[in-house]
Amino acid sequence: MKLAIYPGSFDPVTNGHIEIISRASKLFDKLIVLVSVNMFKPASFTIEERKELLEETVAHEGFTNVEVDSFDGLLIDYFNRRKADVIVRGLRAITDFEYEFQMAQTNRRLCYKAETIFLASKTEYTYLSSSMVKQIATFGGDISDFVPEYILDRIVKRLKK
Ligand code: ADP
Repeated sequence: MKLAIYPGSFDPVTNGHIEIISRASKLFDKLIVLVSVNMFKPASFTIEERKELLEETVAHEGFTNVEVDSFDGLLIDYFNRRKADVIVRGLRAITDFEYEFQMAQTNRRLCYKAETIFLASKTEYTYLSSSMVKQIATFGGDISDFVPEYILDRIVKRLKK
């Protein structure tokens, strides 16, 4: 059984993340979407809120082999504990590359078994990020093209000034 972990801040989950979850869930027997703490990015949603939005997404989209979990330690410790095979990350553009490359190299240095696989984002989501969604929603803009309708209201209410 091949187990993959898709870690990220998911602050909040966007259509871009969901597209990666959908594709990764077809490539592996099981996928864990792992809400993790990114010390470089201040979060707007609590870990619990981010997990709830992802759980609703997974149920709504009917992803039967996807689990949502959270962890506030080193990804590689979680990876080893779950006996995972692969780390999945999404690549939007060249700007993602440097950071993602560094992370993948570091994780492999910490654990030689930790392979990272990158899925290139769908063209229409290349520009899409959680921080963009937060910025637009905070000032009352329309984010309905960026997040699914079943969690739209919750995100809007939470972010509106
Ligand atoms: P992190 O803080 O770990 O970068 P994010 O939630 O911002 O967490 O992103 C998690 C992963 O999803 C990263 O690999 C990121 O590149 C990828 N990702 C984010 N937005 C998109 C998108 N629109 N299309 C494809 N991949 C994306």
